[in-house]
Amino acid sequence: MRDKALPESEVMRILEKTRARDYNYDRFFSTMCTLPHPIAVRAHDMFLETNLGDPGLFPGVARIEERVVEMLGELLGCPDASGYISTGGTESNIQAIRAARNESGRKDGNIVVPASAHFSFDKIGDLLCLDVRKAELDESLRVDLSSVESLIDDKTVALVGIAGTTEFGQVDPIEGLSRIALDRGIHLHVDAAFGGFVLPFLKKKFAWDFSVPGVSSITIDPHKMGMSTIPAGGLLFRGQECLCALETETHYLTKARQASLTGTRSGAAAAATYAVMMHLGREGFAEMVDYCMDLTHHLLKRAERIGVLPLIEPIMNVVALKVPSPAQVREELMKRDWHVSMTREPNRALRLILMKHMTKENIDLFLEDLKAILAK
Ligand code: PLP
Repeated sequence: MRDKALPESEVMRILEKTRARDYNYDRFFSTMCTLPHPIAVRAHDMFLETNLGDPGLFPGVARIEERVVEMLGELLGCPDASGYISTGGTESNIQAIRAARNESGRKDGNIVVPASAHFSFDKIGDLLCLDVRKAELDESLRVDLSSVESLIDDKTVALVGIAGTTEFGQVDPIEGLSRIALDRGIHLHVDAAFGGFVLPFLKKKFAWDFSVPGVSSITIDPHKMGMSTIPAGGLLFRGQECLCALETETHYLTKARQASLTGTRSGAAAAATYAVMMHLGREGFAEMVDYCMDLTHHLLKRAERIGVLPLIEPIMNVVALKVPSPAQVREELMKRDWHVSMTREPNRALRLILMKHMTKENIDLFLEDLKAILAK
């Protein structure tokens, strides 16, 4: 650190110059985050210094968090759900599995996840000392139920299904997983970090949330399709017991027990999530999802014209495009300031997420560049 103070104007000049090095959202096909809704930004600023880790000092924002959990519970088919606003999908997944493990009383257990699971589950294995067993996918890239069954044993503390996989936007057969979970008395966690704010607003309906009886917990991220500010994740449990299984005693704070993973935690993202959910309502989210699906269909139609097809017919605004040598194509695209990502082996493809910040004009420009690169 410097010895001498630097004038505010000078610090701001450095920050502005550095910020200008960041790329712009309008060229991003690779991210599941987007520009937050303006009302979320205003709410975030208003609650910047609030700390949900010590809720007795901030009863206002603590109530806002409760309301967000209630609204998310209503959206996901369980108005009485318990939970909290986390820092994102990773924390919510960690905490859901930690709760399942604690409830089971096992310290040497395993979890069964789809091979398409987000890498947060590898972190979970490491952090919680659980064996992470990966079940095979079927040809439509949904988890194969017989593979799941073959991996379960007496030490299995949780099953995981994904509602909106990171790479393909695919929805696992949650009803099938629910039957297995209920039969065996195992916690079923649904990772809907991305799909949670998409599936309720699609024309085609899926059974994946708390309306499916075996689902015990759900991850849903407001900082992805929820248009909130980063870091806003949602973790919901069907009942109170799982949340209690996460609690530790807090010796010096205003509340005697705490269930969250982090201690000090910002109330700003909870307030931002509240603001955007209240302001948009179901109507506004349906419009936003329609917009993203319209972009998705536009991309598919235009990509087909240049001979590029999707790996699977997209369910939501996540598209995996089959191209020869995807890594090289991606590199060439990046040179032209297009940011796309890739899916894993054995289904390597270009991965594109069609978020609210994207436009049809930019999709067309992107495809012109892709066509030129493929022609080389
Ligand atoms: N789960 C799924 C399905 C995801 O797609 C992601 C991120 O893309 C995560 C979890 C992790 O979320 P975060 O990056 O907010 O921790």
